[in-house]
Amino acid sequence: MANPPSPAPPPASRPQPFKHTLGHTAFELLGITVAMTLTSLLLYRCVHGIGDAWEIDGTSAGNSLALVLAGAVFSGYLLADLGSGVVHFSFDRFFSIDTPVLGRHFVHPFRRHHSDPKDITLHDFIETNGNNCLAACCVLIPLALIPFDYTVGWQLFVVAIFVFASIGTFATNQFHKWAHMLHPPALAVWLQQKHLILPRDHHQIHHTHPYHTHYCITTGWLNAFLLKIHFWRFLEIFGQRVLRLPIFTEETPWEQLAGSTAFAEREEMASLSEPQFSESR
Ligand SMILES: [Zn+2]
Ligand SMILES: [Zn+2]
Repeated sequence: MANPPSPAPPPASRPQPFKHTLGHTAFELLGITVAMTLTSLLLYRCVHGIGDAWEIDGTSAGNSLALVLAGAVFSGYLLADLGSGVVHFSFDRFFSIDTPVLGRHFVHPFRRHHSDPKDITLHDFIETNGNNCLAACCVLIPLALIPFDYTVGWQLFVVAIFVFASIGTFATNQFHKWAHMLHPPALAVWLQQKHLILPRDHHQIHHTHPYHTHYCITTGWLNAFLLKIHFWRFLEIFGQRVLRLPIFTEETPWEQLAGSTAFAEREEMASLSEPQFSESR
């Protein structure tokens, strides 16, 4: 593996934080409200379906559905991690910041994040979570409209897996933000240490030369496996040859990071006492 380029001198000042337009912020607030409402509604329907099964068929059917729901919780969380990686990869590598509709509000924050990783720690709740809630709404709205029978196992599983994937997606950018904070809340630190959410040192692998791996940012559970099977390389080839998308290779050399917080974050990580980058690459 090639040695990483030498770091540039620390920046004198950081750039202005990225801000969405007022119109997009209102749209994000609407997305958060709709996502929370629909998630609550669908969870209620799932639990109600299990209750109905218990009443109709005694305990056995209800117990089976409860197991189905438990499986969907884990699978949904895993699906959220995979989805976060695919979306992250797409916005890092496939699209230009000039792409209509997506460019300014979705691609630009991802690209900017590479030259200014600390910017995300300055985002408020709406800015952090709004875009992900809008994405979750694309799944939650059809789920709420389709008349599923929640007492049927496979139908309950389909709804529940996407509901819990949406919850994971909702939380993804919050986990990502905590992974860049030097002092996240105590609960977040505990969850990071247990690797129930994205750990800080794990995510730094994505921000380290050659910048082409560890795109999953919900928990990062799939990162080592996807790296091992060359998933990102296959996705790149698929995008390039089948979808005919241009490939952007933002390796963000350190010498181009003047005025960014990437250098400062790297120094911060180096100063921490715990082992860094312990995963095989
Ligand atoms: Zn990235
Ligand atoms: Zn990051």
